[in-house]
Amino acid sequence: MADAKIIDGKAIAADVRAKVAADVKRLKAEHGFVPGLAVVLVGEDPASKVYVKNKAEQTVETGMLSFEHKLPAETAEADLLALVDKLNKDPAVNGILVQLPLPKHINSEKVLNAIDPDKDVDGFHPVNVGRLWIGARSLVPCTPTGSLILAQTVAPKLAGLDAVVIGRSNIVGKPMASLLLAQSCTVTVAHSRTKDLPGVVRRADLVVAAVGIPEFVKGDWIKPGAIVIDVGINRVPKGDGKTKLVGDCDYASCAAVAGAITPVPGGVGPMTIACLLKNTVEAALIQKNIPALG
Ligand code: NDP
Repeated sequence: MADAKIIDGKAIAADVRAKVAADVKRLKAEHGFVPGLAVVLVGEDPASKVYVKNKAEQTVETGMLSFEHKLPAETAEADLLALVDKLNKDPAVNGILVQLPLPKHINSEKVLNAIDPDKDVDGFHPVNVGRLWIGARSLVPCTPTGSLILAQTVAPKLAGLDAVVIGRSNIVGKPMASLLLAQSCTVTVAHSRTKDLPGVVRRADLVVAAVGIPEFVKGDWIKPGAIVIDVGINRVPKGDGKTKLVGDCDYASCAAVAGAITPVPGGVGPMTIACLLKNTVEAALIQKNIPALG
């Protein structure tokens, strides 16, 4: 089999952002408002600071309003909850994202559960988890949403495909499985206790790897022609004292067998912020009872 088609997440994320920008223009013209996203950062975690900066920049680039709240690491849980309450009540704020991880003295679950489910652009609130599972209109976690969009660029109709999701986290694996089930895939969710994982993966027309182990999935696990979506982001030594990013799939051996594959970097990664922006528009539509924009 020839080498797989490379699914260009960077280009597809740019398309998603362009659609968001067009939707924002349309909302302004037809409904007289511009969606707003509030991002809350507590503390000085360097990676979180970069994420928050990128999110704010891209929010503004798509024409939306960006509200940044940077709080010191020693912020009391009650003060953070008070800010969330204020943002819940602010009509200019359609989406609220509290950047994780939070400092250890703050109960993350309590804070995330305090966000109004209709403003929960991360899709982590139990109400959104339930809505997704029952097939109701909901805000869906960004990384699985982006992964689904990437798969659909090479297989617009996923119905009937055997899909294997490796990983069952609340952030990636479980919502991914739910999204694929909603697309009428036959879904298997594999995890650390799965027996004969290579055999399970070999049955899949679509593999989504969200394991957190560098280059874990090998090419000889992949059914020839399958679609491989690699969610993993792992920093590993390059050998020259520097580091590089690799996914959860052994790219070279998987690409030699798969029909299509996402690279790392440049695959799922760029889709996550793009889908956050898409969710902010969707949150505004839900709050204002406007049907999905075509
Ligand atoms: P978690 O650590 O929360 O979950 C990992 C999952 O992998 C668990 O369900 C675990 O099983 C399973 N697992 C671990 N070891 C094995 C094994 N040997 N065989 C089979 N399954 C195994 O990770 P996340 O879901 O948060 O993230 C997964 C990956 O995706 C990471 O590389 C992360 O960096 C990346 N990621 C990328 C994002 C992006 O924007 N592209 C966003 C979020 C995550 P069990 O439940 O049994 O322990």
